[in-house]
Amino acid sequence: MIVKLKTDITVRQICDGFVYNELEGKGLFGLSGKLTIQPEYQRNYIYAHDGGKKEMAVIGSVLKGYPIGLIHFNKISDENLEVLDGQQRITSLGRFLTDKFAIKDENENMQYFSGMSKDKQRKILETRLTIYECEGEESEIKEWFKTINIPSVPLNNQETLNAIYSGAFVTLAKSEFSNSQNTNIQKWSAYIKGSANRQEFLERALDWVSKGNIDDYMSAHRHDKNINELKRYFNSVIDWISGVFSDVKSEMRGLKWGELYETYHKKSYNPEKVSAEVQKLYADPYITNRRGIFEYVLGGSIDTKLLEIRVFDEAIKKSVYITQSANSKKKGKSNCPLCAIGHDANKNKIWSFNEMDADHVSAWSKGGKSNIKNCQMLCKTHNRAKGNR
Ligand SMILES: [Zn+2]
Repeated sequence: MIVKLKTDITVRQICDGFVYNELEGKGLFGLSGKLTIQPEYQRNYIYAHDGGKKEMAVIGSVLKGYPIGLIHFNKISDENLEVLDGQQRITSLGRFLTDKFAIKDENENMQYFSGMSKDKQRKILETRLTIYECEGEESEIKEWFKTINIPSVPLNNQETLNAIYSGAFVTLAKSEFSNSQNTNIQKWSAYIKGSANRQEFLERALDWVSKGNIDDYMSAHRHDKNINELKRYFNSVIDWISGVFSDVKSEMRGLKWGELYETYHKKSYNPEKVSAEVQKLYADPYITNRRGIFEYVLGGSIDTKLLEIRVFDEAIKKSVYITQSANSKKKGKSNCPLCAIGHDANKNKIWSFNEMDADHVSAWSKGGKSNIKNCQMLCKTHNRAKGNR
C-alpha cells in the first residue's frame, strides 16, 4: 500500500461540487466530482444529530484555526478518490458552505455561510486540510480502515459489519432497513429500539433471520443480488407480533422478538383473549416487570417468574415471623408450619428469621395479595419446594 501526505488541498477544493442527499442522509461528492465522500461502506451522516453540535464544532474549529484532524482518502484511480476517514467532517464543511445549517457567532446570532463577512468566508475556504492519500488492494484498504477508524462517535457493531461485508447485499439491505424515509419505520419502532441511521433496524432484521449469527449470515449472503429472505423473515416476525398482540405498549420495544417468534409462532392465539389478558396484567399492581407480560402470555400464563411479582416488605415479614414463632414456641413445634406437620428432626425446630422466607398463602396467580394476611414464613427448604410446584 502506498501512502502520500497532502497538505495543500483547501476546503474550497474539497467542497467544490458538493451535493448533500437528504434522502440518504449522505454527503456525495467533492473535488469537482473526483471525490466520493460517503462510499457504500460508510455510515450515514450523523453529525447533524444531537442538534447539530458536532457539525457546528467542525466549523468553529476551522474559524479558530484549530486542526480538525487527519483525513484519509483511498485513491482508486487518478480521477477517482474515496474518503476512508473524515467523511463526517467533510460533509459538515460541505453542508455549511451550502447553507444547510448555521453557526452561532460571537454575539450568539445564528449565521449562515452566505451571510458571513468576506474575510471569514475566505478563512474557511482557504483552510488547508491534512490528508493521507493511500493506494492499494481492497482487502488491504479495508483492513487499514478498520484500524484507523476510531472517530469521536465510534462505529457501532452493525456499522462495522456493513463496512466489512460491503457489496450488493448490504446496499439493498440498507435501502430497506436503514432508510429513514421508509414509511414502515413507525410500525417497526413499536417493537424495535433504535434508529434507521444507526443501522439498528437492519441489525435486528439480520439478527432474527440468522438466529443471532449476523456475521456468518452477512458473509454467506454478501454477493446476493436480492434481500428476499431477509425481508420475508423480518415481515413474518413483525406480522406475527401485531397479529397476536393488538395492543401496542411501550414495554414491547426491544424484546427478544426473534426468539419469541421461533418458540411460539406455531401456537395459535386468540387476539381478543390475549388482549384481555394483557390488559388485566397491566392493571395488576403486584407485577413489577411489565416487559415480562408478553412472554408470560405467549407461554400460556404459567411462568410467573417473568412478571417479578412484588414480594412482601421487610416489616410484614418480621411481624409475621414474630407472631408465628411465639405461637410455635408455646406449642413446642417448629415455627415453619410445614416442618411442624412433618416427622423428621425439624418438627420442633425454631428457625431464625434469616433461615426463613416469606410465602403467599394463596398464590398471586389465584388472586392472592402481597399483604400481611396472606403472608406466612416458611423455612428456606420448604419455601423453595413450594415455589417449584
Ligand atoms: Zn420447613
